[in-house]
Amino acid sequence: MSVTDLNAEKKWREIPKDIREKLISNVFCGSCFETTIVDYVIKDHSDGILLEGKCKTCGKAVARLVEK
Ligand SMILES: [Zn+2]
Repeated sequence: MSVTDLNAEKKWREIPKDIREKLISNVFCGSCFETTIVDYVIKDHSDGILLEGKCKTCGKAVARLVEK
């Protein structure tokens, strides 16, 4: 994991847990529409942080941008 990803993870952990859980369970999937993201990694993004993972239902790649 790069330094950038560690920073992103730190930012993610600063978000209250109940809000993080809402963000994780409200991700757009092209097949299922609203889904939960699983097996995700947290990346730094110019507008905040980016979660990249898989759709819990169909396994397709999904991502969610969490704006600052
Ligand atoms: Zn899906």
